[in-house]
Amino acid sequence: MKKSEWKWFGHPGHLCVAQWCRFHLATQVGDILVSTVGDYHRPIHGEQSEEKADTVGLNRLYETMSFKAGKPCRAKGCSCGLPEISGNEIYFEGYNTARDAIAGHMKACELAENNKIKES
Ligand SMILES: [Zn+2]
Repeated sequence: MKKSEWKWFGHPGHLCVAQWCRFHLATQVGDILVSTVGDYHRPIHGEQSEEKADTVGLNRLYETMSFKAGKPCRAKGCSCGLPEISGNEIYFEGYNTARDAIAGHMKACELAENNKIKES
């Protein structure tokens, strides 16, 4: 799979609070979905969001996860085009800067392209 065949999505690919993440990348490489989210600004009382970014997990502001990509999303009224993800992540990496998160996302895509990410 060449880089030109990678599919990029505009919506976050994982994490239930991702709608409040100002940073997200989602790329399908073959049958692997690589998703990076971060810069999470938790809403205050469901309205405004906090000024300071919150962690998305232990000691990390950004994280990349890869999943086995399933059928296209069938959520009612949704046109995200993302594949459904099944099971747990098969790859994980955490970061604390956007720069590292972008580099890490590309690294995970390249690993997927070279079949270095396998379902365990
Ligand atoms: Zn969808």
